[in-house]
Amino acid sequence: MTLRCTMVGMPGAGRYAPSPSGDLHYGNLRTALLAWLWARSTGRDFRMRVDDIDTQRSSATSAERQLADLAALGIDWDGDVLYQHDRFDAYANALRHLEQRGLVYECYCSRREIQEASRAPHAVPGSYPGTCRSLDDATRAQRRANLAAAGRVPALRLRADVTQWTVHDFFAGDYTGDVDDMVLRRGGQAPDWAYNLAVVVDDAFQGVDQVVRGRDLLSSAPRQAYLAGLLGIEAPDYVHVPLVLGPTGRRLAKRDGAVTLREMLHDATPGEVVSRLAVSLGFGQVSSAAELLEVFDPAALSGEDYVWEGL
Ligand code: GLU
Repeated sequence: MTLRCTMVGMPGAGRYAPSPSGDLHYGNLRTALLAWLWARSTGRDFRMRVDDIDTQRSSATSAERQLADLAALGIDWDGDVLYQHDRFDAYANALRHLEQRGLVYECYCSRREIQEASRAPHAVPGSYPGTCRSLDDATRAQRRANLAAAGRVPALRLRADVTQWTVHDFFAGDYTGDVDDMVLRRGGQAPDWAYNLAVVVDDAFQGVDQVVRGRDLLSSAPRQAYLAGLLGIEAPDYVHVPLVLGPTGRRLAKRDGAVTLREMLHDATPGEVVSRLAVSLGFGQVSSAAELLEVFDPAALSGEDYVWEGL
C-alpha cells in the first residue's frame, strides 16, 4: 500500500502543521516561514495542516487565529487546510493495515507502570520496555477484562522489530534515534489517535516529501520514518531547524513577554515582523515574505539556536 499521493512528475510538497493551542509566537513564526521558504524555493507546493488530534488541548478559534496570522505574514498555501479531527478514518485504515500483518498489540500498562519500568537499569529512558508485547491470550483476556470493568480500553502499540533507525536531516546529517513499540492509539476511556501515526499518515496524504519543523522534533523523526516504511511510504526529506530560545536559554515561550504576532502587531506592521525574522535568519531587511523568498538560500543559514531579544 502506498499512501502518498505524489506521482512521478508532481512537485512534492512542504508543510506547516501547527497545534491549535494558543497564538503563534516568534519561534513558531520563524519555523513556519522557514518551512514556506524551503518549499517554495525548491519548487514544491506548500500544505497546511491543523494538528488538532489532541481534542482536549485544541480549539477551533485558536486554529482560525493561527491561520490568519500566517496569512498576514504572506505565507500562503496550496489546497484546503487539512484538519486532523477529520482524519480518524484514515488513521483507522492505516492501523488495520498494520494489524493485518501482526504488527499491533494491546497494551494494558498504566502511565505509572511504564514510567517505573523505564527507570529500570537497562531501559532506554522514555522508551516503552515491551511489558505487554509477549503476553499469552489468557493473560490478555484477563487484563482486558480488568480495564473494561473500569470503563477503559487498552492502548494499541506497534510491534517494532528494530530499536533504532537512521534518518537524514539537513542540519544534523545522518541522525540515529530510538524506535520503541510506540503507541498507535491511546487507551483509556476515550481512545485517541497517537501523534506519530497521524503525522505519518497525513504527510503522505498531502503529498509531503519535505518536513521542515523545529529541532525539538528531531528525536521523533526516526520513529516516524520507520513507521512510514511499514506503511509503504517513503520517508520525507527532513529539515529540523534551530529553535528560538528565551532569555533563560529554554525554548521561547509565551511567558517570555510580548512574543505572539498579535502582541507584536501593537507596535509593528506584518512587514516589519517579516523583516525582523529575515534578519534573525541572517538575511538583510526585507519588506515582505515574497521579497525574502527571492534571496533565500538554505546554505546561508546558521545551525545555531537563536536567542530572542525582542523585536
Ligand atoms: N503540531 C506539531 C507542533 O506544533 C508539529 C508536528 C510536525 O511538524 O510534525 O509542534
